[in-house]
Amino acid sequence: MSVHSYKNSRNTICVHEGQHIGEYRGINTPIYTSTSYGYLDTDERLYPRYFNIPNQKAVIEKIAKLENAEDGIIFSSGMAAVSSALLSFLNSGDHCIFQKGLYGGTLHFITKEFERFGIEFSVLKNNDPDSFQQAIKKNTKVIYVESPSNPLLSIIDLRKVSELSRLNNCISIIDNTFASPINQNPIDMGIDVVIHSATKYLGGHSDICAGIAVSGRQHIDRIMQVSMSLGGSLNAFMCYLLERSMKTLTIRVEKQNQNAGVIADFLKGHPGIPRVYYPGLKEHEGHEIAKSQMTGFGGMLSFELEGQDITAFQKRLRLIRPSMSLGGIETIICAPATTSHRLVPKEQREAEGIRGNLLRLSVGIEDTGDLIDDLRQALVMG
Ligand code: PLP
Repeated sequence: MSVHSYKNSRNTICVHEGQHIGEYRGINTPIYTSTSYGYLDTDERLYPRYFNIPNQKAVIEKIAKLENAEDGIIFSSGMAAVSSALLSFLNSGDHCIFQKGLYGGTLHFITKEFERFGIEFSVLKNNDPDSFQQAIKKNTKVIYVESPSNPLLSIIDLRKVSELSRLNNCISIIDNTFASPINQNPIDMGIDVVIHSATKYLGGHSDICAGIAVSGRQHIDRIMQVSMSLGGSLNAFMCYLLERSMKTLTIRVEKQNQNAGVIADFLKGHPGIPRVYYPGLKEHEGHEIAKSQMTGFGGMLSFELEGQDITAFQKRLRLIRPSMSLGGIETIICAPATTSHRLVPKEQREAEGIRGNLLRLSVGIEDTGDLIDDLRQALVMG
């Protein structure tokens, strides 16, 4: 059910969009557990792996509305969304451009699997518009970006990427996980397909694994055709949990934006921390572009720690948990070299700037005074 025609009423969309009113007019979408649906007297063929049961549709409609997309597909993980979307548009003999600095799982997927399918790819050494332009080949079909990127928060000029993509008849895809639909809407800047690991901000409570791709009708039809065969669909219970979580997405993300800004300011002034990566900081090389394409700078930041052991530092933290993943309401910390980018060979990791002393902080909704006290005591004791 579409409840709102306004583009910027984020909280209203989060609370109401996609809601399915059941037979008894309950306030929440009922959970449709069936895997078998009647087919006589209707053209609809409902089936979970066709991504069209009511609980799947409820979340798809909510996220598509937030991203100003026509439609979407809800997957059982972010990687199911990434791999299904890429394999939908790339054939043997095609070429794909990837930015420098991708989530380790995506980098692992393309480096381990693409050759087998005869798909060529270039991973850029720099993320400026000229580097994208120079990487274009006659057979380039897809340009894939992740902005802000995991874990170094690189910012890509999305308007330039979409323009280049259009001029060269390519499809542009973005992994918008770090920004969330609250801070960045790439379709408005001409990007064709937007992906999220819904495991992160959309779920927001560190208890759901899911992914989503949203786009215009034609691209979704193509991704759907492939995804129905690949089969990475999400079950009704998880869709219900995701729908429930998303009702508070805007207020969570706005608080996380605020908290991350305060913590970035604290960290950047600390003598034991030579580098802080946060697009909200004026010193960040992508700050101006981020300002022009994001409405908030997000809850993710990374920093390098000097003069102390990063494992001992993490063990000294009392409130902030050393833990994998990101985007939940609780603040967590991890070392990308041994978690998200563990499968990326060391030389490649270091060439991308992911050093052994890098820590990534996913900032939650706690009170910043408590988070800073925790960081301060763990830093001082080193
Ligand atoms: N994209 C980004 C930016 C991520 O950080 C992750 C996971 O950490 C993924 C995609 C993959 O998502 P999932 O773990 O839900 O498959």
